[in-house]
Amino acid sequence: MARMSTPMPVEVSDHGSTSGTLPVSRPPSVDALARSISSTGLPHAICVDIARKAIADGDASSAASRADAFKRTLLMPVINATGVLLHTNLGRAPMGVQQTDRAMNVEFDLATGDRGSRQVAVGELFARLCGGEAAMVVNNNAAAVMLVLAALAYNRGVAVSRGESVEIGGAFRVPDVMEQSGATLVDVGTTNRTRLGDYSKAMARPGADIALTMKVHPSNFRIDGFVEDTSVAELSTLSVPVVADIGSGLIDSNCPWLGGPPPAWLADEPAARQSLEQGAALVTFSGDKLLGGPQAGIIVGRRDLVEACKQHPLARALRPGGLVLSALQSTALAYLDRSAATTIPFWRMVATPLGELQRRAVAMCSDAAIGEPEAMLALPGAGSAPGVSMPSFGLSLPGDYHAALRAQATPVIARVRDGHTFLDLRSVDPADDAIVIAALRTLG
Ligand SMILES: *Cc1c(COP(=O)(O)O)cnc(C)c1O
Repeated sequence: MARMSTPMPVEVSDHGSTSGTLPVSRPPSVDALARSISSTGLPHAICVDIARKAIADGDASSAASRADAFKRTLLMPVINATGVLLHTNLGRAPMGVQQTDRAMNVEFDLATGDRGSRQVAVGELFARLCGGEAAMVVNNNAAAVMLVLAALAYNRGVAVSRGESVEIGGAFRVPDVMEQSGATLVDVGTTNRTRLGDYSKAMARPGADIALTMKVHPSNFRIDGFVEDTSVAELSTLSVPVVADIGSGLIDSNCPWLGGPPPAWLADEPAARQSLEQGAALVTFSGDKLLGGPQAGIIVGRRDLVEACKQHPLARALRPGGLVLSALQSTALAYLDRSAATTIPFWRMVATPLGELQRRAVAMCSDAAIGEPEAMLALPGAGSAPGVSMPSFGLSLPGDYHAALRAQATPVIARVRDGHTFLDLRSVDPADDAIVIAALRTLG
């Protein structure tokens, strides 16, 4: 590696000399500097880039901290102590994925030895789980909605209540998705009240060519007061299929996997099974919200409509890989054998008794000799169940420590409010308590 030919700006000498006759220190070679930060474990090529940039900036001594900063831009496990169980910035539903390094029968029929479809196995599991005829999986729910509209309503109208013409976050805005799909949004009713008659009037309008009605769950906000909407059951009395974008992926509003009554905070959350029972022709939802699986979008319902989605050219562009399919398959199997409350991390967090969280909080405060145990409210997150919370327990520390906790080797993500730092234990796996305690001890 060539040495830098231009001299570095004079560095402040650390020899304490005042003579002024000290030689100007030469810049280190890029290669030597890159090797000096190799203990970060970063690939040599990346270390060289960092070393070169540090030298060019006249700040060779910053190479190590630059390397550390770079490392922390990489994906890594973090401890979510925010109490937002499905934190979009932290990857929504956490899940441990075990992937084989062998080949997998993603599109191969082991019975016949012929080519198979990647949609068959997981599609059948989700159809069975939700009580639909068929199902398919795409990259996320935005893709699911896009595909359904493109496959079933291209160049035709889709009736949507004005109160449901919503923005879910990021770039998912119903009118925009509709436009991109080639379907035409037909606004129905008013922002706060939409009745069945509004839909039938829109369908009867001369020249109206309504292919579908779509019911969109306004996942991340709530309108209270003088409001009225039209149920899936009512919509299903009309002559066109009802597509319900329920968003969250709650499989069954009775939550049979919890072995008890469903939690109160789920009361207003639409569920896949019940939406289909009420007459939805198709339901679409995310894999990584209340379902508790990997990022994916699931389309479930009438076989002919699912088939039309599978045949559409966009389906290929939106298809999931084997990694996602196998994680989703494990998720579906966990629901079917009713082990979801113990094997799906999201439902495990939900099902943890409050007393258990309190016990952990008390133990943590005493082990770390810092903070006070405190009752708090955890949120489902990911725009699911707006305005609801569940009782929780955690630690409160006077002062703002969230940067210090974030800087730990395993970052601990906390919340700060009113000059206090809060760590909610409902979103922390008990297996990580020791790491949190060690992090808290560094704050002392
Ligand atoms: C979250 C959500 C979406 C977007 O789903 P992604 O899986 O994030 O693409 C679409 N519609 C509704 C109703 C949602 O809640």
